[in-house]
Amino acid sequence: MEQERSVRKVTLSSGRTVEVVYYGDEAPAGLAEPGLVERPLLPDSPLRPLHECEHCDSGLVYPTHWDEASEEHWKVHLRCPNCEWRASGIFDQEIVEHFDEQLDQGTEVMVRDLKRLMQANMSEEIARFMKALEADAILPEDF
Ligand SMILES: [Zn+2]
Repeated sequence: MEQERSVRKVTLSSGRTVEVVYYGDEAPAGLAEPGLVERPLLPDSPLRPLHECEHCDSGLVYPTHWDEASEEHWKVHLRCPNCEWRASGIFDQEIVEHFDEQLDQGTEVMVRDLKRLMQANMSEEIARFMKALEADAILPEDF
């Protein structure tokens, strides 16, 4: 009945360190046992935010699943799209909020890139369109 699990230290951007419990596989639903919840430690280990992959150092780790573990804790399943590293752990509200901010920033960067890409594509399209117009290749029935 004992789940295989490992404990890892995670340091928040604030410098606060928490101990995170990882389960070998899928953890059972009821995770409110006090011994399994991470607890704050002294800020002494290197920074490792949730969005950074432990395996390949990619900063694109994202949550595949969130579960409320207790009032102030979340069980988060993580996945790295770069190397397929996966983990799950129970994190306190603060870490999850920080992670959420990182995700928002990540999304913003992605949207910005996408917009840039769209603009690039659009200007190509527009250039093609203009050429076609000049060549009288576009007829009213094309619309
Ligand atoms: Zn990775």
